[in-house]
Amino acid sequence: MQNDLSKLPQIQALLEQPHIAEVVQRYSHSEATTALRQIIAALRAALLAGQSARFPDFTSVEFAATLSAQIDATRAPVFQPVINATGILIHTNLGRARMASQAISAMQGIGSAPSNLELDLATGKRGSRHSHVETLICALTGAEAAVVVNNCAAAVLLSLMATAGGRNVVASRGELIEIGGSFRLPDVIAQSGATLREVGTTNKTRVEDYASAIDADTAVLLKSHTSNFRIVGFTASPDRRDLAKLAAEHDVILMEDLGSGVLIDLAPYGLPDEPVVADILKAGVDLVTFSGDKLLGGPQAGIIAGRADIVAQLKAHPLMRALRVDKLSLAALEATLRLYRPPFDPVKTVPVLQMLAAPLAQVETRARSLAGSLAAFDGVQVAVHESAAYVGGGSLPEQALPSFAVSLRLPALSANDLATALRRYQTPIIVRIERDHVMLDMRTVWDGELPALTAAIEQISTG
Ligand SMILES: *Cc1c(COP(=O)(O)O)cnc(C)c1O
Repeated sequence: MQNDLSKLPQIQALLEQPHIAEVVQRYSHSEATTALRQIIAALRAALLAGQSARFPDFTSVEFAATLSAQIDATRAPVFQPVINATGILIHTNLGRARMASQAISAMQGIGSAPSNLELDLATGKRGSRHSHVETLICALTGAEAAVVVNNCAAAVLLSLMATAGGRNVVASRGELIEIGGSFRLPDVIAQSGATLREVGTTNKTRVEDYASAIDADTAVLLKSHTSNFRIVGFTASPDRRDLAKLAAEHDVILMEDLGSGVLIDLAPYGLPDEPVVADILKAGVDLVTFSGDKLLGGPQAGIIAGRADIVAQLKAHPLMRALRVDKLSLAALEATLRLYRPPFDPVKTVPVLQMLAAPLAQVETRARSLAGSLAAFDGVQVAVHESAAYVGGGSLPEQALPSFAVSLRLPALSANDLATALRRYQTPIIVRIERDHVMLDMRTVWDGELPALTAAIEQISTG
């Protein structure tokens, strides 16, 4: 039987069918209408495309069940955990740092009860939300004072606004970075109301370049971490101590945007070039900004640390209220920072650092264990390979970490189709494709996630 457009039912008439009316009762008129519209639209599109569309029996219980299922699907949470098998430790699209259990518990505690967010329990007077983490940040970085805002972009914006609005900011041409998501340093400087004075060249900037740009209108010398690119070869940038001396001589502020602030020496784990925040401040930098959810391993937050007089200015700035950190992030940040102090060892408790520091043998064992389980499934081709994981996340993109990956092939699926199927699985699995193979990098996967990975691949392989 040939259906045509004129036989498509009216939505209003459908809504009055007894079984559909029950669906309306159980859900809502608007959800049922939306789902019906989608079903009719799909049929219409098929007819217009010249396909023979088989109409369901709109009066049947089965059709009502289909409709319910479609509405249920729209009610399922869409923001959900995934398994990161990309080998990129801090993946901005995947929510950056996986947080420590202590941070999760802290959020649970603070989220599920009233708290002393802005109450000084000692005096009973109004307190400051900034006080909860300031002492910890100072202890860990040697800063005189600190304040936390929504993210590092906000930290840079607020710092520049409060210190350099209406005046000049001197920055090297080699450091005028763009971070993903339209954070371009020259634009942020412009937004802050300051004027950018570019100095030096793309590959070389010297102290004298900064010195000759300083005039009566200069407020800040700004250094920034070139966190997502690298200039190699014939390069130079001034020593922080020399810049600090220059800034002090001219009574201007030396500020450094670190992006991914590192609190401990990561040289033993293969990241030799990252100075720790404490050393940067010790070298004479007046104010640093860094993210909470990059190598620090905590929640999204922007940490500003440095000279007490500047931090006091930031706390009093009208924009502070708009950029302030929320209580859950603050709870998670405090808990994460505590993991950097005895009796804890952050490399054993902060997940990002655990992944970074995991001995290669442990990653290999994980890869062999997964490959062993997968080899039992019919038609699944697996192999274990040496691989390279990356820190990622706008921090140290070039830094490869030795890793192991499991390569995966199913005879019926191309690598792209398999990656898509894994991504669309109920616990989505995000992978990398290399030379037409799906690669599951084991540096970013937890042992506890292996059963879910195995179950997903078993189900996909059996169709
Ligand atoms: C990542 C990064 C930022 C932005 O940090 P968010 O926390 O994402 O706002 C700013 N500056 C540098 C150098 C960065 O690497």
